[in-house]
Amino acid sequence: MIQDISPCRLDNAYRETVPALDDCVFSFRGDKVLLREGEDGCRSLPSFRDLQYPAEEMPRQAVFLFRVDKEPIFLLDGTAPGGRGLRYFPVCGLKGILPGWAFFAGVTALHLNHWYERNRYCGRCGSVMEKKMGQRALVCPDCGNTVYPCIAPVVMVAVINGDKLLMTKYAGRSLPQWVLISGFVEAGETLEEAAEREVFEETGIRIRDLQYFGSQPWGFSDSVIAGYTARLDGPDEIRLDRKELAEAEWHLRSRLPDELTDISIAHEMIESLRL
Ligand SMILES: [Zn+2]
Repeated sequence: MIQDISPCRLDNAYRETVPALDDCVFSFRGDKVLLREGEDGCRSLPSFRDLQYPAEEMPRQAVFLFRVDKEPIFLLDGTAPGGRGLRYFPVCGLKGILPGWAFFAGVTALHLNHWYERNRYCGRCGSVMEKKMGQRALVCPDCGNTVYPCIAPVVMVAVINGDKLLMTKYAGRSLPQWVLISGFVEAGETLEEAAEREVFEETGIRIRDLQYFGSQPWGFSDSVIAGYTARLDGPDEIRLDRKELAEAEWHLRSRLPDELTDISIAHEMIESLRL
C-alpha cells in the first residue's frame, strides 16, 4: 500500500524546525507538485537551493511537514520563485517516477497543503489565521479559534457471498475499474454502522460478521480509509443506487478483476480474498 515504504519511515511528529538550503520542499499548484527534472529526464524533489529562494525569506515561507528518515521536509506556503529544470506534475501520476517514500510523502504533503490553503482565514470571524507554536494547528489571533488538520474517515467494505465478492463501479467518475463499496462516515456513526449503511444504501444488501481488515491514509481525498470484510446476510439481489454507482455485481473470487494499482487498500483487500 501507499504507506508501505520500509525501510524508510515517515515521522509526522510536528517540530519547530528552521529549513536549511538543502532541505527538500514541496510546492503545489492545485493537485500538481513541483519537481526538479534533470537533463537525463530523472525527476526528484527540489531543495530550497533548487528553487533559488532568497535565504532571508525562507523561515517565513516554509512550513515544516514531517521527517523522512530524520530528514525534515517542508511545504512552501506561496508561489515558488522558480528555477532551472523545475516543472509541475500531477501528484497522481508520480507512482513509479519517484521512489515510494517520495510518492507517499507527496500525497501526504498534498493533504496538508489542502488544509493550509482552506484555512487561511478564521471560519468564525474572518481574521487571518496564524500558525500555532509547537503543534500542527492554526489559531485565530482575534477570537482564539484553533483549527487542527482535517482528516475525513472513510469505510471500505468487501462483501463476501461464499465464492463470490461484491464489486462496484462508481457513477460519474473517471475511475473505470471495479472497486469495493466505500463512503464517508457520518457524524454520530461508528465505523461499523457506516459500513452497514453504505452497503445497504448503494446496493440494498444486508451484511453480518464485519471484520476489521486494516487502514490506510489517503491524502488524495484528505481521508483515512478503514477496510472491513463482511458476509452477506439475506438475499443476494442487488438494488443499485444509480446516483452513486454505475454497476454492482457478484464476481467469482477465482476470477476477480485485476485492475487496481497496488498502492490502495482496495487492491490489498481484493487480493486477500482471491481464490
Ligand atoms: Zn477568529
